[in-house]
Amino acid sequence: MLTLVKKCIICDKPAEFSVKGSSAYYCVDCAKENFANLDLLQRVEEQAKKLKEAIKEQAE
Ligand SMILES: [Zn+2]
Repeated sequence: MLTLVKKCIICDKPAEFSVKGSSAYYCVDCAKENFANLDLLQRVEEQAKKLKEAIKEQAE
């Protein structure tokens, strides 16, 4: 079982953003609090979605 879901480094919720070039992950709330410009961050949402679909395909 793949466990690639990242957690927010501040509040431990599932992270939706990561900092480019680093391994710091943030949930939406913490990202908004800590970064004025979310363009500086990468979305991990898309990755997670693809991962879910891949798992679903394997299960069917
Ligand atoms: Zn958080």
